[in-house]
Amino acid sequence: MEKTKVAIIGLGTVGSGVARLLLDHGDRTARHAGRILWLEKAVVRDLAKPRDCELPESVTLTDDIEAVIADPEIKVVAQLIGGLEPARTIMLKLLESGKDIVTANKALLAEHGAELFDRARELGRSIAFEASVAGGIPIIANVSQCLSANQITSLHGILNGTSNFILSKMHEDGASYEEVLPEAQRLGYAEADPAMDVDGSDAAQKLAILAHLAFGARVHWKDIPRTGIDTLDLADVRYAEEMGYKIKLLAVADLVDAGLELHVSPTLVRAGSPLAEVGGPMNAVRVDGDAVGRVMFYGPGAGQMPTASAVVADLIDTAVGRTELTFKTLELWSDRQARVASSDYANARGRFYLRATVEDHPGVLSQVTSALGAEDISIASVLQHEPLPGEDVIPLVIMTHETTEGAAAKACEEINKLKASQGPTVRMWVRD
Ligand code: NAP
Repeated sequence: MEKTKVAIIGLGTVGSGVARLLLDHGDRTARHAGRILWLEKAVVRDLAKPRDCELPESVTLTDDIEAVIADPEIKVVAQLIGGLEPARTIMLKLLESGKDIVTANKALLAEHGAELFDRARELGRSIAFEASVAGGIPIIANVSQCLSANQITSLHGILNGTSNFILSKMHEDGASYEEVLPEAQRLGYAEADPAMDVDGSDAAQKLAILAHLAFGARVHWKDIPRTGIDTLDLADVRYAEEMGYKIKLLAVADLVDAGLELHVSPTLVRAGSPLAEVGGPMNAVRVDGDAVGRVMFYGPGAGQMPTASAVVADLIDTAVGRTELTFKTLELWSDRQARVASSDYANARGRFYLRATVEDHPGVLSQVTSALGAEDISIASVLQHEPLPGEDVIPLVIMTHETTEGAAAKACEEINKLKASQGPTVRMWVRD
């Protein structure tokens, strides 16, 4: 059988999983690729560090990236170090030395995708990146190839497992964000620095990649309006439940007449609907296409072996030449593929959950409803509980009918200015 020599850069969580699949299941990969994927070299930063995989003597472990770059026999490289630099420079050098690349690094693609893909095209090379979004769920291949007969009209995703784990725990255990975060870190779902996960940035990076594939949108992830779960109050989880909803960090891309609506926000999703029932660290993506209708993808969005599963599938596709074909035809991140512009977030339409914190006096409810009326916002329901003993402040929970994000934001500003207002009004999207 023919051999394709492969190298792995970075033997951390994902890299070790990839090495294990290549080494322990070489027969399986050979059967699927029709050739042997031979792990020739692995590059790390610290040679002394213990690894989560056993390398046989045939594999060279090195801390010298040049050992891979200068090896003409290595055709395909799994680039599995995180962050922007030196990952970007390493990717460029690998492309320039004639290697095809497989990567899981969504931060790098979201930031420098255009540069890297242009360079790969110029050099006649390819970059595969299935593992960069939703880990083990094959969403990249599905959106860019399997659904290519469709105009995708909507894509809603739960794309950050850390946030989903925390939200699930808040619902199940009635625990606050601050109480659940350490547990997420202890179980390995959240990084030591979880900021990008919980503030919506990680989901926005993945959404930017998916929006590019599904809609041809050239959007930078930092331009996607985003709110994380790090400021979410347990009280809103309880009120959402009371009204028959669950809160999910939803990454949304909806194609409307004005362009593409994109945002990442904690959203009330009707309990019992498929997205609402995605629990723990799992991910899911719901896609609407004009021919296929609605399809759902569900599975582990991160973790060693699920992510390695996606990387090795890309290594096989690259070794057999499938990636080269799709890479050429898809023209990813190319200006020629730019088909749709983002629409103004303020004009995005939908229903909203609002929680005003106000003094419990006669006339306050009508002041709040007047502020909504001034923005032409119609109320679907109001929930008000008695104040706690000794307190004079009440939460006023309002579900609106359809309006715009801009109108909802303006109404909240006006409510906050009321003399009776005792704290900023919480605002979240509602999806059925
Ligand atoms: P990780 O555990 O931190 O591993 C990173 C590896 O890169 C380490 O082995 C490290 O070497 C190596 N490395 C870092 N800088 C290097 C350099 N300058 N030269 C050579 N090697 C270097 O990271 P990970 O969790 O495997 O994630 C890798 C990528 O996959 C990231 O882009 C991440 O966003 C993405 N991803 C991860 C997951 C997941 O579940 N973990 C899921 C989807 C995507 P040392 O070990 O010697 O320090």
